[in-house]
Amino acid sequence: MGKFKPTTIDVGTIQKRFEAFEIDVDWDVIEKLQACRNHLEHLHPAHTLGEVAEFVAELFPVLRDFIQTELGESPAAILGDAWQLMLLHHNFFVDTTKRCEEAWSEAYVPEGMEPWLKESKCPECGSTLLAPAQENLDAGDSVERNDDRFKATCIACGYTDLVAPLMVGALENAHSYDPRDGGEASLEGCNQCGRGAFLIYEQSCLWCAAELEYTECEMCEERLGQEDQDNGGLCSYHAHSYEKFMRED
Ligand SMILES: [Zn+2]
Ligand SMILES: [Zn+2]
Ligand SMILES: [Zn+2]
Repeated sequence: MGKFKPTTIDVGTIQKRFEAFEIDVDWDVIEKLQACRNHLEHLHPAHTLGEVAEFVAELFPVLRDFIQTELGESPAAILGDAWQLMLLHHNFFVDTTKRCEEAWSEAYVPEGMEPWLKESKCPECGSTLLAPAQENLDAGDSVERNDDRFKATCIACGYTDLVAPLMVGALENAHSYDPRDGGEASLEGCNQCGRGAFLIYEQSCLWCAAELEYTECEMCEERLGQEDQDNGGLCSYHAHSYEKFMRED
C-alpha cells in the first residue's frame, strides 16, 4: 500500500471498449500523455514544462479527429473555449517548429546530424523548439565548422547554449549501452574531425562524413575500425602475425 497505481483512469479498459466499437485512436500519443499526467499528479514530474506543452500540441489532432470522425460533432461546439486555446497552442507549436527548421536550413548543419538536431531538447525546459542564434546567422557561421561558438536559443524559455553538445548528446543517448548487459560501444570520437559522431558499425562519421579507407581485413574479412587503419588493411591479429613473420625472416 501507499504506492499509487500507474493508472488512475483506466486507459486499458477504455482502449478495449473503443476497439470493440471499432473506434480508431492514436494510442501512442494518448499513452504518452497519460504517463505524463500521472507524473504531474503525483508531484514528481518526469517531464518538463516544454515537453508537456508538446504533448498537448500532439494530442490536439487526435482529439479533433475523434470528435469529428467518431462522434460526428464539431470540436468547437463540444469543447468551447478550451478548443480555441488548444487550437492557438497547436498552431503556435506547428508554426514555430516550421520556422526553426527553416532557420536551421541556413546554418550548415552536417547532413548526417540533421536527425539529431531534431531530437535535441532545451536542457532547461525540455522543449524541442530550438532556433539558431541570430548572431551566428548574422556572422554567416556554420554549425559544421563553427561548432565551438554556434548557439541555439530555446523559443519556449529563452535559454541559449552551444548547439553541438545538444546534438551529440542526443546521438549519444540513442547509442547508450550497458557493458554489464554485454552491450558494446557503437559510437566513438572521429579521428578525422574529433567530434563524438563516428558510428562504429557504419564505419563513418555523421559529422564530417569521413569513411574508413580499409573496411575489412584482407586475410580474415573481419570488420575494421578506425584503430586498424595504420595496419594497411589487416586486422590487429593479422597485422601482428605479419610483423612477427617479417622479424623472424
Ligand atoms: Zn527551454
Ligand atoms: Zn568526423
Ligand atoms: Zn584478419
